Amino acid sequence: MADFDAIVVGSGGVGSAALYHLAKRGVRACGLDRFTPGHSRGSSHGGTRVIRQAYFEHPDYVPLLRRSYELWDELEQAIGRQLFYRVGLLEVGRPDGIVVGGVRESARQYGLAVEDLSREEAARRFPGYRVPPDCEAVFEQNAGYLLVEDCVCEHIRLAVELGGQHHAGVEVLGWDSDSRRIEVQTTNGVYTATRLIVTAGAWAPTLLSQLDVPFRVLRKHLHWFEIEDDGYRADCGGPTFFYDVEGFFYGFPAIDELGLKIGEHSNGEQIDDPLNAAEDIDENDVRRVREFLGTHLPNVAHRSTRHAICFYTVSPDEHFVVDRLAEQPNVVAVAGLSGHGFKFASALGEAVVELVLDGETSAQIGFLGSARFANGSS
Ligand SMILES: Cc1cc2nc3c(=O)[nH]c(=O)nc-3n(C[C@H](O)[C@H](O)[C@H](O)COP(=O)(O)OP(=O)(O)OC[C@H]3O[C@@H](n4cnc5c(N)ncnc54)[C@H](O)[C@@H]3O)c2cc1C
Repeated sequence: MADFDAIVVGSGGVGSAALYHLAKRGVRACGLDRFTPGHSRGSSHGGTRVIRQAYFEHPDYVPLLRRSYELWDELEQAIGRQLFYRVGLLEVGRPDGIVVGGVRESARQYGLAVEDLSREEAARRFPGYRVPPDCEAVFEQNAGYLLVEDCVCEHIRLAVELGGQHHAGVEVLGWDSDSRRIEVQTTNGVYTATRLIVTAGAWAPTLLSQLDVPFRVLRKHLHWFEIEDDGYRADCGGPTFFYDVEGFFYGFPAIDELGLKIGEHSNGEQIDDPLNAAEDIDENDVRRVREFLGTHLPNVAHRSTRHAICFYTVSPDEHFVVDRLAEQPNVVAVAGLSGHGFKFASALGEAVVELVLDGETSAQIGFLGSARFANGSS
């Protein structure tokens, strides 16, 4: 008999949720990760992640987002503390641009509550956030931020409480599978299971080469700055924000003494080896962020309090890949979350567990299959 009914390789954002859903289903489950939960070497750290429903990237994500919201609520109830703060999201851009146009289209298709704010109204409600003359603003109150490391750690903690196992400090080297049994080779020996879920984040290009998707890994920067205006504080009504201006810039109101957090969603330096990525500040990146702040959030002081790096794993069309491996149907993979996947982790975890245990899922993820990249078609 195999050691486990299912093994999860990688217990970051999605893997921790998958481990929780496996344990909730009562199967013998084990999560393996090279690092300890909540670590800062992958893509799920840095304090906070934006969560929103009026999805400018594509309206097809909205049903999955609705399920994500339900499952984040369920997690909060199970652990008895808050992880999701609905401080709202202010999005700014040209009306015919990807962001404002996309938000309005998702909201229209799914009847989501999004307010159109005139420049005057935006200035009145959010005086520290400027809307350029050629831009418009939309505000989604039912959006905000998740505490990213806490979400990961709580999913794992609950999974273990429910009978699952989690082995940190274990590097997965590869696996062999036939239709009934999978052998996972690790630095801690061989683990066996009947099913496998692989959620390896920035290591997908090597660990999931079978998907045959040309993922790019980008080194991205997060910056924290002191604030001089309480309007940038979450507890004083400061919202999360996303601007489509001289690039895509997003950020978070201050939730502690580190101040306002900001990053550029566009750009990024492609890297080959996330284990050895430089952690230093990119001068061009910080210049662009400071220029953005100077123009659009002018009351943020430019005194930096913290800097961190983090990885985007980007698919060719910047949409996720969620699929079983063609040659190994008892292996399901999630990869290429393309810098916008954390908010979905709860629902993706549930969906891959259904896929791997039941052979199908009620989650609407058909548009995320890997076949769309066959023959370089996307
Ligand atoms: C700067 C930044 C800002 C972002 N902002 C947002 C946002 O506001 N909203 C949002 O929704 N998303 C955001 N994202 C994207 C989101 O955070 C990621 O899509 C998501 O966290 C990725 O989760 P994951 O499970 O795929 O990867 P990870 O959380 O990185 O997990 C992968 C895990 O696999 C492990 N692993 C890999 N290979 C092996 C191996 N061989 N052996 C053992 N373990 C292995 C790693 O150690 C890691 O723990 C952002 C990302 C970054 C970098």
